[in-house]
Amino acid sequence: MPNFYPDMPTGLNDSITGAISSDGSPELNKHYTLPARTGVAVRLEAGQSLIVVNPTGTQVCDFWAFNPSNLYEYLSMSHCRTALASVVPTVGDILVSNARRSMLTLVRDTSPGVHDTVIAACDHARYQQLGCKEYHDNCTDNLRQALKSIGLEAKVIPDPFNLWMNVPITSAHRTKWAAPVSRPDDEIEFRAEVDVLVVMSACPQDVTPVNGENCAPSDLAYRVTLGGNA
Ligand SMILES: [Zn+2]
Repeated sequence: MPNFYPDMPTGLNDSITGAISSDGSPELNKHYTLPARTGVAVRLEAGQSLIVVNPTGTQVCDFWAFNPSNLYEYLSMSHCRTALASVVPTVGDILVSNARRSMLTLVRDTSPGVHDTVIAACDHARYQQLGCKEYHDNCTDNLRQALKSIGLEAKVIPDPFNLWMNVPITSAHRTKWAAPVSRPDDEIEFRAEVDVLVVMSACPQDVTPVNGENCAPSDLAYRVTLGGNA
């Protein structure tokens, strides 16, 4: 049966108990690990910066952001593409919500800048299509669980900003799937323009080479700083 309920995970993994604090507030400057195949919610205050690190260089991060006081407002890829006249945000770009409000600014990116805003988050149905017979960890359930782990429930499953995911768009407007071109320890930094609740999932895709030719999902890392001139 398809699962159309945004607040109900199809299955569980460690994301459900992986909260970094009761409400997702981080310890500033602490180096956190996001274990492979799991998701986490991280609360940012306006002005703070979130730095996401790709230790292996081959791991994709499905990235969402919500208005913490109204989870119906979220970082919207279609509204970003509209505002930016681009399908891939780059340094200096302001990322907007479905209410067209500024949420985050992409302030730094040490990677070649190849990210994706086109592809849906993986979910139970996707792995069933790929031939999985048993439950497979997936980014959509990681989002649901990450929010539940801090006492919240997803109202919608927005399209994610897929950090480091490499989906070239051809001149004939077709998409292709390719391994990430990011390098070990590449970092991407976002400054919160308003208070935001970020959710990240270390994508568990190991059937297609989304997370590198070896199809081996790996850990991500992150930290939150005061921002400012950083
Ligand atoms: Zn995924």
